[in-house]
Amino acid sequence: MTLPLEPFGTTETVIRAAPIGICITGAEGHFEMVNPAYCDFYGYREQELLGQHFTLLVPEADHALMNDLHARFIAGDGDTEASHECEVRSKDGRPRSILATATRIQDDRGSVKKVTFVVDITARKAMEQRLDFLAHHDELTGLLNRRAGLGLLEEEIQRSRRYGTPLCVASCDLDHFKRVNDRHGHAVGDRVLNDTARMMKQAMRQHDHVIRLGGEEFLLLLPGVTQDEASQAVERLRQRLASTPIADVRLHLTLSAGIAQLEGDEQADALLERADRALYGAKDQGRNRVRDTA
Ligand code: GH3
Ligand code: MG
Ligand code: MG
Repeated sequence: MTLPLEPFGTTETVIRAAPIGICITGAEGHFEMVNPAYCDFYGYREQELLGQHFTLLVPEADHALMNDLHARFIAGDGDTEASHECEVRSKDGRPRSILATATRIQDDRGSVKKVTFVVDITARKAMEQRLDFLAHHDELTGLLNRRAGLGLLEEEIQRSRRYGTPLCVASCDLDHFKRVNDRHGHAVGDRVLNDTARMMKQAMRQHDHVIRLGGEEFLLLLPGVTQDEASQAVERLRQRLASTPIADVRLHLTLSAGIAQLEGDEQADALLERADRALYGAKDQGRNRVRDTA
């Protein structure tokens, strides 16, 4: 649609036709001009915004920060142009992400105002958050993935050394999991893995970490507990899993686990190797059991 030049001048017509949101706020932060794209984006009519304070569109928690930024921008601290990404709310309450670029101007009477150009980056932000999540988590179960888990293990080792607190790891492997796939199909196998992962998270303490190393292999990090305490915690998990029917097929699944406690100046690799050896021991002895390295 071609906008008529009248009753607006050329400049104003361009502003009204712009595909990005544009607004002018006065020194006190009240809207003096909003273009149609700005109104569309926030879901308000022009008359609902004009004269309102800009914090109408800002989540409550950010009011003080945004007021402070606005005041400093108007006062002329720093650059005459500023760009930042922030969270805003449209009229229907939906959180949106924007890239706001503000420019300081003066009208013909010398009053300082702020012109803000708003680009909707909600979809891009959501995609970034998803990619960030996937970089650190396993998509099927939502648990930490191997890379993130091993990074966390290094951090826990440092913390254990710094504070002189114990640290245990448990290497866990579901028993005869191949049979689940063979008998019920891969999709059921996936659901079983998902439900098992959820149970593991529920069974462990809040500051324990549950990691999916791959396949049906999991690693538990138990900071602050000795090998005996870790063995008891993992034994409780083993019993709970063995006695709870899993997924809609109500399968009875078991796990084997090997526990190791961090020693002296031991490296992560060596610690994991000892836990794995204990796990193989548990498998050799008939599965559905927890072994430690004592
Ligand atoms: P064991 O008691 O000796 O551990 O026997 P197992 O059958 O659990 O061990 P094995 O290593 O022979 O087989 C593991 C199986 O786990 C093989 C594979 O089909 C299955 N698996 C690995 N990752 C996935 C997954 O993401 N989804 C599904 N459904 N199955 C998986
Ligand atoms: Mg297995
Ligand atoms: Mg395995």
